[in-house]
Amino acid sequence: MTGTPTRVLVLNSGSSSVKYQLLDMSDGSRLAQGLVERIGEETSRLAHTPLRAGGSAPRERTGPITDHAAALKAVAEELAADGLGLDSPELAAIGHRVVHGGLRFTEPTVIDEEVIAEIERLVPVAPLHNPANLLGIRTARAMRPDLPQVAVFDTAFHTTMPESAARYAIDVETADAHRIRRYGFHGTSHAYVSRATAKLLGKEPEEVNVIVLHLGNGASASAVRGGRCVDTSMGLTPLEGLVMGTRSGDIDPAVTFHLKRVAGMDADEIDVLLNKKSGLVGLCGDNDMREIRRRVDEGDERAALAFDIYVHRLKKYIGAYYAVLGRVDAVVFTAGVGENAAPVREAAIAGLEELGLAVDAGLNAVRSGEPRIVSPEYARVAVAVVPTDEELEIARQTFALTGEIAGGDGGRGPDGNAAGEVTRTTNA
Ligand code: AMP
Repeated sequence: MTGTPTRVLVLNSGSSSVKYQLLDMSDGSRLAQGLVERIGEETSRLAHTPLRAGGSAPRERTGPITDHAAALKAVAEELAADGLGLDSPELAAIGHRVVHGGLRFTEPTVIDEEVIAEIERLVPVAPLHNPANLLGIRTARAMRPDLPQVAVFDTAFHTTMPESAARYAIDVETADAHRIRRYGFHGTSHAYVSRATAKLLGKEPEEVNVIVLHLGNGASASAVRGGRCVDTSMGLTPLEGLVMGTRSGDIDPAVTFHLKRVAGMDADEIDVLLNKKSGLVGLCGDNDMREIRRRVDEGDERAALAFDIYVHRLKKYIGAYYAVLGRVDAVVFTAGVGENAAPVREAAIAGLEELGLAVDAGLNAVRSGEPRIVSPEYARVAVAVVPTDEELEIARQTFALTGEIAGGDGGRGPDGNAAGEVTRTTNA
């Protein structure tokens, strides 16, 4: 094939894993996807799924993959085996998910040495995520130094928050010296879902106010006014806000001093407690909502309490963001729990009729991968389920920027729509 390259490889690099998807932005279709996990261990595994019609079957490799360079080399080999190699002239760009862009990165950004240095400078506020993202970036740049590579930041969508929402009420000098403020995360998902919700309502993003509830293993809420984020529940780190799979969400900060003084725990132990051993798993031993619902249905009291605490927090944020926005057009659920757990949606909206919110039991019970409204016709505010698609959003933003660099059509398809609005998978 000749012509303008339209493929974008999306890389999401974690400390011991790399997730990837190859998309064709001429129509938003997915050509391949996969995951390398347990990098650096003896039991590394690469699972590769070709997705082109008539393509080959899913493949798996096991055995040691020593580092991110070896992981990307293995990914490149798998893609090449399907005729989709990284050396293909059809590859337009690589889009990297980067968790923390601080205040500097308000937009997707073409990566150069200066951008890498700034992502590095943000490591103190994202010690788990940014180093892993940088490993992926450096490796991919070494493999294809000639190719545009774009960083898409999880925090970028939230940089529109006013200072009143973004600042903590602590000493300003201390906060500024250490860049302590609320940044928010899952921004790519909140951006995608809020825009897709406007489309579902038959409106432009500028016309609608939306509360987005991204409920995956990590969970966050955001208040979006006319397409711009005005508040979000995650803060300096992804620990703040909703009850999550393993994170506590909001907690009195004095709990941490108490744990130090009374329980003799140090900062790292408290970090692990609040990030890994709290939330649903801390409350009932399970972080999978399917398992929790099964236990609730069997009469398990701990699971029932965990579910109630989870829903109570969710309801508080819906009310808070309703007040922040003043007028709400839709409350939208997304990600693993939000898209699949009808009981969570039902319980979170229950009792909010005075706010114009209701869920139709029949519509809410429908299982579908499509964006849909689950509120009854009479409800003043729509309740919607919109599957998120961070990879497509990263690819779209990457391609748009690549188009700009090349003087192309900015990622717009032949009909003028942003490419790829038609296909989606759940992956948050
Ligand atoms: P995510 O982080 O978006 O991939 O979401 C992962 C979480 O989604 C899991 O931990 C489960 O709690 C939840 N989940 C996935 N599928 C279902 C389902 N069918 N019903 C309820 N919860 C689900």
